[in-house]
Amino acid sequence: MENFQELKQLLSQPKKIVLIPHRNPDGDAIGSTLAMSHYLAKLGHECEIIAPNDFPKFLKWMEGARKIGIAEYNPAKCRIQIEKAELIFILDFNNISRIDEVGDWLQRSTVPKVMIDHHQDPDQFDYMYSDVNLPATCQMVYNFIEAMGHLDLIDKTIAECIYTGIMTDTGNFRFRNTSASTHRVVADLFDRGIEVDKIYNNVFDTQSPNRLKLLGLVLESLQAMPEHRTAYMHLTREEQLEFSSQKGDTEGFVNYGLGINNFVFSVIFIEDQQHDFIKISFRSKGNFDVNNFARKHFNGGGHINAAGGRSDLNMEETIQKFRELLDIYKEELEEVTL
Ligand code: 5GP
Ligand code: MN
Repeated sequence: MENFQELKQLLSQPKKIVLIPHRNPDGDAIGSTLAMSHYLAKLGHECEIIAPNDFPKFLKWMEGARKIGIAEYNPAKCRIQIEKAELIFILDFNNISRIDEVGDWLQRSTVPKVMIDHHQDPDQFDYMYSDVNLPATCQMVYNFIEAMGHLDLIDKTIAECIYTGIMTDTGNFRFRNTSASTHRVVADLFDRGIEVDKIYNNVFDTQSPNRLKLLGLVLESLQAMPEHRTAYMHLTREEQLEFSSQKGDTEGFVNYGLGINNFVFSVIFIEDQQHDFIKISFRSKGNFDVNNFARKHFNGGGHINAAGGRSDLNMEETIQKFRELLDIYKEELEEVTL
């Protein structure tokens, strides 16, 4: 961050600060906003986190998670908090368009905005720490606190939030951008008292029986296309209703397709429960760029190996469109080395 000293100066006086994660916040989005807000509170700031919409139960055990304002449920209150903010942190996303009406409120606000994020093609903000090579915004929050000279302020609570974001965004430390520096950060979090078994249990082993049944249904729908090294799955609205699918229940399902020998591309199509569109998750291995794929064909984006998008066609038409696209990418998929 070129103007880091100026930001440091801004943070030397107590302020009302609002922190915002992206829509459908994941472990890194919630972990980074919580870690940063606990840290800023220690500096004497008054912090509020405002999420555009709700997030899964498996992230609500983190300290402060239940105090996060949900704009979808309390729009008036959240809008006023943004109006009153003297400084705004934008974490784990970099495009105002990713946060719906919260983005409109943000655009009306003239206070300085700080963006810390690892996605590609950031919008312009007053203070920016952008690094697409880092696997998690939580690792960047750690780096930020270190640059502030405040590593000693990272207590067990903050360390747990940072670990959760790094653990989830690296797929439990297995994606290619997981590095020695990631592990060094995590080693320091251990020194600050984290208990990994507790965190892992809270995030992964709190599922309902229905979620596993829903997974069964999704795996049943799996179509394997060995000649394209691709697997895709789908889930309709009715199926979600049948197993009373909750927010976050489908998280991680898409990864199963990458477990097939030699496969490099996995996709899941999930019909939205309220609105007429299909939410799509893309995952890949190696240099097959799903960010590019999602941007170009499905109005989305993300990272090289994990991206999301949407389709306004129905399920059948969406899958048809996808299958036709696959033929165009056949050679590229064949060439991926593992
Ligand atoms: P997921 O498939 O878990 O929803 O998203 C995977 C990754 O892609 C995440 O990093 C997420 O932030 C990003 N992503 C998901 N949906 C969209 C989208 O509609 N637009 C953009 N730009 N990124 C997305
Ligand atoms: Mn992230």
